[in-house]
Amino acid sequence: MPSSCIFCRIVDGVIDAYKVYEDGETMAFLDISPLSKGHTLVIPKAHVQQIESLSEEQLVALFKTVWKLTRYVQQATNTSASLIGINNGPESGQEIPHAHVHIVPRAKGDGGAPIHAAMHNRPIVSKEEMQRTAQNIRFAIKNGHLG
Ligand code: AMP
Ligand code: ZN
Repeated sequence: MPSSCIFCRIVDGVIDAYKVYEDGETMAFLDISPLSKGHTLVIPKAHVQQIESLSEEQLVALFKTVWKLTRYVQQATNTSASLIGINNGPESGQEIPHAHVHIVPRAKGDGGAPIHAAMHNRPIVSKEEMQRTAQNIRFAIKNGHLG
């Protein structure tokens, strides 16, 4: 656990957070700079930067907590929808290098945008390139530990 990690320090109780949930493997607290009321972060207690580096157990625990909490975050904020997202790695905009899932309650007319708004320069991809990319991903999966 690096003492420089804000989220590890929240897990250790060294710094305060608006905690809403905790179990053996995970914790959830309000984002200090919310995109909407009730914006909640769900984290694994272990210091792991990216989703693919979590163990299967850690991953299941993390998403189980996301699954469990989403309805209650929405209920508490009088919403019935939410943007659930992960900035996975620095190039994606991840600022805190400790994996976390954002649950952002959404409502009609809240001025927000769908996740597609995150990319301004969408590529034009030919059918051939789509086929090649799908093949490359299938190949990587087959040769990886999930294959
Ligand atoms: P990301 O860009 O996905 O790494 O998001 C990091 C999030 O952590 C941002 O939305 C911040 O507002 C939030 N954040 C940073 N420091 C704290 C903190 N001490 N307590 C709660 N949320 C925080
Ligand atoms: Zn950490």
